[in-house]
Amino acid sequence: MLNFRNFARQAVEPGLYFNVLSGRNAQGKTNILESIYLACTGRSFRTAREKELIKREKEFSSIRCLFETRGREVEVKVTLVPGRKRIEVNGVLKSGHPFGWPGVVLFTPDDLVMIKGSPAERRRFLDYDLGPFHPHYAHCLDRYNRVLSQRNALLREAKEKRTTGGPLEVWDEQLCRYGSRLLFLRVSLLKKFFPAIRALHRELTEGAENIEISYLSSLKIGEECGEDEIYERFSGELRLVRDEEIARMQTLVGPHRDDLHIKVDGHDARVYCSQGQQRTIVLTLKVFLIEQWRSETGEYPILLLDDVLFELDDNRREALMCRLGGLVQTFLTCTRVNFDIEGFKAKVFTVSGGEVT
Ligand code: ATP
Ligand code: MG
Repeated sequence: MLNFRNFARQAVEPGLYFNVLSGRNAQGKTNILESIYLACTGRSFRTAREKELIKREKEFSSIRCLFETRGREVEVKVTLVPGRKRIEVNGVLKSGHPFGWPGVVLFTPDDLVMIKGSPAERRRFLDYDLGPFHPHYAHCLDRYNRVLSQRNALLREAKEKRTTGGPLEVWDEQLCRYGSRLLFLRVSLLKKFFPAIRALHRELTEGAENIEISYLSSLKIGEECGEDEIYERFSGELRLVRDEEIARMQTLVGPHRDDLHIKVDGHDARVYCSQGQQRTIVLTLKVFLIEQWRSETGEYPILLLDDVLFELDDNRREALMCRLGGLVQTFLTCTRVNFDIEGFKAKVFTVSGGEVT
């Protein structure tokens, strides 16, 4: 990479499996993960203002990343000048995503909001992590969100003009159509994947903990509901809340108000989970995603772990490393290697002041 964040010019030749980036605070460890993520997805996980990625006082930044997977070699080059980004894959210009599948799974401490944060954080997991495993999910989500925002605009108008919201009915039909499909897909994906998630969580806690994840719908539907049944329930509920919706100028029921209920050993994770338990849940979901992508594409994504491994106790860390060892190329950051990485074929890099040794 060239002029990327605090790096002037830097080459890194990672190992096939564990790569440990060790160094004091503010030396550039996360910046390296960011550059890998950028090469895989075409965007940063830290900022939408890509100008920030260019080294201060420099005119441009560029990273070149060579990926080797079974049977193919891919070179991704990302060049940034203020206001413009250029992505090339094997010399061919690409708009947006370089690979068309994630290729990378990232875990930073920010991901822990999935447990303690608002329902929106858990819906993000459904929409952007599980959703891509169904071919129609993204389209359905997009349509639903559009209809939702148009309907909300009409509700606002109805309140301001003191009407009863007559034209809403046209939108209601579409809202229910896409909404029931979306909800049905969410419940189906969760049902399909939950057994694997539960088994993995047991493994990472060495059989000590039991996770349950259920879908909590604002429409109060059961897990066995079909799409038509959901549709009926949705339109029925909409009729009931119509007046309140106009008063509050927003759509009050539907998949955009839903949540996931996560429990460990029967207790609500949001309220009772310790830090380590929260980390373990999110890690479980990340490792699950890696394995699911592998079964969909035949290739393991790269795993990036930013300041995650340390807070886990020895047993959980061992269980995780055993699970990934020899399979997944992993990059992890830490301030000091204070655990046993012998036997994991790890490559250790020291990051200091924008240089890697
Ligand atoms: P920590 O252990 O605290 O997480 P880190 O090693 O992960 O530290 P990074 O987040 O990678 O540290 O950031 C290292 C440094 O990079 C910061 O001091 C930051 O000021 C600097 N930096 C960020 N963007 C730029 C930029 N565009 N130009 C120059 N330096 C930058
Ligand atoms: Mg960092």
